[in-house]
Amino acid sequence: MKADVAVIGAGAIGAQTAVQLAERGLDVVLIEPGSVGADHAASYGNAAWLSSHSVVPPATPGVWKQLPGWLADPLGPLAVRPTYLPRSAGWLWRYLAAASTEAKVAAIARHLRSLLIDAPRLHAEVAERAGLSHLIDATSGLMHVWRDREAFQGDAFGWKIRREVGIDWRELDADEIAAMQPDLSRDYRYGFLVAEAGHCRNPGAYVAGLVAYAERLGARRLEARALGFMQAGGRLTGVETSQGTVACGAAVIAAGVRSGVLAALAGDRVPLESERGYHVTVEGEDVPGPAIPVMVGDRKVIVTKLAQGVRCAGQVEIGGIDAAPNWRRAEILRKHLAEIVPALDTKDAKVWMGHRPSTPDGIPVIGTASGIAGVVHAFGHGHIGLVGSARTGRLAAQLAAGETPEIELAGFSARRFARRAAEAA
Ligand SMILES: Cc1cc2nc3c(=O)[nH]c(=O)nc-3n(C[C@H](O)[C@H](O)[C@H](O)COP(=O)(O)OP(=O)(O)OC[C@H]3O[C@@H](n4cnc5c(N)ncnc54)[C@H](O)[C@@H]3O)c2cc1C
Repeated sequence: MKADVAVIGAGAIGAQTAVQLAERGLDVVLIEPGSVGADHAASYGNAAWLSSHSVVPPATPGVWKQLPGWLADPLGPLAVRPTYLPRSAGWLWRYLAAASTEAKVAAIARHLRSLLIDAPRLHAEVAERAGLSHLIDATSGLMHVWRDREAFQGDAFGWKIRREVGIDWRELDADEIAAMQPDLSRDYRYGFLVAEAGHCRNPGAYVAGLVAYAERLGARRLEARALGFMQAGGRLTGVETSQGTVACGAAVIAAGVRSGVLAALAGDRVPLESERGYHVTVEGEDVPGPAIPVMVGDRKVIVTKLAQGVRCAGQVEIGGIDAAPNWRRAEILRKHLAEIVPALDTKDAKVWMGHRPSTPDGIPVIGTASGIAGVVHAFGHGHIGLVGSARTGRLAAQLAAGETPEIELAGFSARRFARRAAEAA
């Protein structure tokens, strides 16, 4: 098989990249072993937020004090499986170090803002071209609620950082929240509305629809697993797959949590870990739920009304890619959902677990590979892979097509990890 560009992985990132390349008239092969838009990918089961304000990394200064709790409470909102600690210790160390000062967090926020600033609009535009406008609500706004103003103080640091990078929001009192969210528990009496943000109405269908659009433009799919790269004189000549070789001059690594192995083959060792997350979804078009997607501060969960029902998503579990899901975590989410939306019958909620592909600093890896010219990295989006996919797809396509990327990418380079390792040595 021959192509101009091979895209490895058909999650949100690979799908957006394939669309951008196909729209340029390039010959694209999309390599993906699973069904497109299906539940094996993180892009299927996320909370569907197009949160252009998600610029604060998961770790913040002082969070290391909570490490003993993460190990002791296997069902806490963030937990590390003790048996997996030896394998994750290096990543965890970098995770804590990356955000150890306010200045470091502010720098991360500036990078993420440059990636996400107009994400809802970018999604609306690509969805319109793909005939998927019904799946994107770029103007819904997103809401954050707390029990009262005092409870908000625990999260105030992140909002200060957001303010510094130009994010705006409207403060809400109990009456305003009740008027805007009639189905929400009255326990939540203080909130913010971030008007610039939006959401997707069905992330799995969105990814599948984007891939179908790329195919209408001429992209081809190869049901296979990418295994490695072929090169001549340091330049890419092809991608080896479980179904033979794809001869190509450029390839984009967008294989989610499994991207690290491929990146290493292309010359970059990237610390990539799964932040395992869960959801429960109560299916039904007319079930009660939030009119505006909502993050509930004390429970650290997001509740979003989707086209197919109401979803409650959250939790971070560091336990590796291969361990079986701990469905007691989903049961915790189900209980949260029942209390957040009291009128909702949650007994038949469907459960899911997926892998956020996470770098320790919360910044994705977007850029050219160090070892093989023609290989482009587009992975490591952690908590922001759906919202970040629209611009990442553009950037990956620009790099693969030899164009100048539309934003400065130095802070997203895989080489930042090599530099830090060298500095520490
Ligand atoms: C509970 C939860 C809630 C979330 N909420 C949000 C949210 O509200 N907003 C947001 O922006 N983000 C959210 N995220 C994060 C977001 O879902 C991910 O960052 C994003 O889906 C990652 O997309 P991806 O394309 O990199 O990976 P994936 O969607 O995992 O896709 C990777 C694809 O690569 C394929 N693949 C793997 N190995 C190979 C190989 N060797 N060859 C070929 N193909 C391969 C896989 O089969 C898969 O289809 C959430 C995540 C979770 C778990």
